[in-house]
Parts: sequence; structure tokens; C-alpha cells
Amino acid sequence: MTSARQVDLDRLVPEYVKRFEAYIPSKPDPELMRLYGVDHLHRLNNNENQLGPPVPSRRVLEGFPPAKASLYPSGDAWYLRQRLGDKFGLDPEQFLVGNGANEVIAFVIKAFCQEGDNIVTADKTFAVYEWVAEFSGFEAKLVPLKDFGFDDQGMLQAIDQRTKILFVCNPNNPTGTYWDEARLRNFLDTVDGRQIVVVDEAYLEFVERPDFPDGMRLLSQYPNLVVFRTFSKMYALAGLRIGYLAGQKEVVDVIRRTCVVYSVNTLAQEAALAALEEDHKHIAATRELIRAERDYLARELKRLGLTTQIGEGCFVMIRLPMSDTLAYRKLMAKGVMIRSMTGFRFPNWIRVSIGQHQAMRAFVQALEEILAERG
Ligand SMILES: *Cc1c(COP(=O)(O)O)cnc(C)c1O
Repeated sequence: MTSARQVDLDRLVPEYVKRFEAYIPSKPDPELMRLYGVDHLHRLNNNENQLGPPVPSRRVLEGFPPAKASLYPSGDAWYLRQRLGDKFGLDPEQFLVGNGANEVIAFVIKAFCQEGDNIVTADKTFAVYEWVAEFSGFEAKLVPLKDFGFDDQGMLQAIDQRTKILFVCNPNNPTGTYWDEARLRNFLDTVDGRQIVVVDEAYLEFVERPDFPDGMRLLSQYPNLVVFRTFSKMYALAGLRIGYLAGQKEVVDVIRRTCVVYSVNTLAQEAALAALEEDHKHIAATRELIRAERDYLARELKRLGLTTQIGEGCFVMIRLPMSDTLAYRKLMAKGVMIRSMTGFRFPNWIRVSIGQHQAMRAFVQALEEILAERG
């Protein structure tokens, strides 16, 4: 039986939602393996930590009592915030935990933007700032990267009366460039509290440069600064979805009004709390792997005569003499999943996550083969 009823989408859907094109997530691995006819897939597309979660988090995951699943989690990640307060020497009230750092992006935009407002960020960076702004009806002003890095002067010039938030990804995903402490301070001094400055430090734990700024230590001097961190990358808890923001208490109190209680589940909170025990061991082991395999990739890509952009973080960018979407399919057929970068506005580039040597070798070999196939 067919229904004669119809929904009046044309009237119901806001123009900015009509304009927005939904992000299409990739299919689950078993589906992809069937599709591409491979029996193994090296996941090098999402900057996941191939060493897996820290040992104390594993213990939490293995010993989680099923009965706990029937209880609501702490609504404000109480124990985790206490621990973060101790770790960074801040008040637990200065932290807001979300369902991944992705969710806290939405908290901040909802807290500060109203009709007609805009945000400023780069054109080639983590796309979620731009997406959340646009599907919420706010303009995202995108400032072109300069020498692959965030252009501080360009961003300052893009600010207008309606600019509420500036998003800086430090180091930048996907280019790996970063602002050093002097540059970030200078930027914050110039903005001087007129806008919120978000510094997304999703990859901070991977950076070993002495001049790299730790946003947490700047919070006391810059009341408009908001720092993002995540447990998805270094701490290898991406599947549990947990990240957080930190800021001065007055600002965090405002942002808290826009968050939905209970969005962070119990298992994620407990695994994240455990991840901060002895985390120096886990971080040291991961950094060592990344360092060695980044060097390996740099050497091999040079041997293949390819242009690369290699900076901080756990990923590298490579320019190919072919379409990145075609390269994606050809590499998939060889069991290697990378990120094609047309969607990041880098046509013909791919981004490859750095992982264990076996996966890096498989990638290099597959890449060499698809380049040779072109003749
Ligand atoms: C991965 C990533 C995030 C989001 O991580 P969540 O998994 O949502 O915590 C945020 N910013 C950048 C730059 C990232 O690469």
C-alpha cells in the first residue's frame, strides 16, 4: 500500500541545510574487503594509533562489568575532570568532556554564534569546524594556507564585526605545520579577547619540538583561549569517542550550557581515566614508532621521486602524479586504505597515517606498484 501523504521538506528544511552535502563515512572493513576482493586491510586513513590503547585502559575494557551498562554514566565526567585538573594544574571546572573532540566543536559554535555570525579558519584543515558552522547556518571564512601552514596575518585580516571564533589546528591536520609559541602568543595578543580562539591540539602528544606551545599553559594569560584535546589519536581510544576542551572558568561555564548531558559513555570515561596513568610510557613507545616509520617513509618516498609534506603528527602527505581518488581505489585493491585528499582541497594528494613497519612496507610496495602500472 502506498501512502498519499507527503512531507513538505521544501518548507521544513532551512536553506543552509539544503545547501549542505552530507559527509559519507566509509563502509565497514569487512564490506570494503569484499568490495575490493582483499583478505586484509591496512587502515592508514584515520590517524589511528596502531599500538592500541595504553595497558591500564585495556584492563578497564577487559574487566568492565556488564551490569554497569545499565546505569547512566557520570553526566559531567566527574572523575576524569578531577584527574585532568591534577594533570594540568587547573580547576576541574575548566574542562568539558565530549563525545570526541568533534562534539566539543559543536558546543563552542553553539555557545557563541547566532544568526549572521561567522567563524574564521583555514581552507585546508580539519573540516569539522567548517562543517558544523555551515550546517548550523553560520558562515565559515576560510583563509588559504601559506606555505602549507595557518596564515596568522590572513586570519586576522579576515576578522569582521560578526566573527565570533577563530579555529587554529596546531599542529595542522593534514599538513603537519605548527605555530611556535611566539607566533601563537602574538596572535592571541592581537585578537585580545575580541574573539574566542580555539587551538585544536589533537596531535600535541606527538610533537617533540621545544618551541611547540602547550595551550594548557597559556590559559591563565588568555581568557579567550579554548584548547581541544582528544583520546582518539595518541591514546588510541577513537572507537570509544571521547575528547575535551579546556578554558577559563567563565568561558567554560558559558559553553557548558550548550552540551547535552550523558553524551559520554561510562566505558569511555573509565578507559580515558586509566589512559592517563603512566601515560609517559605509552607516549614514549608511540613516539619512537612514529619517528622511525616517518623516517622510513620519507626515505622511500624520496626514492620514488615523490613530493611530500611531512611535519608533526602521525601522518604524512604525498603528491601523486595521478588522481588521488583513483589511487585510493588502486591501493584498496592491494589491501591499503589511505585518505584521498580532494575533500581536503588537495587534489592529487593523499594522506597516510604512520603505523607499524609491516603496514608501512605494504603501503610503499603497493604505491610503487600502482605508479609502475601507469608505465
Ligand atoms: C581526529 C581529530 C579530531 C577529533 O577527534 P575525536 O575523535 O572526535 O576526538 C579533532 N581535531 C583534529 C585536528 C583531528 O585530527
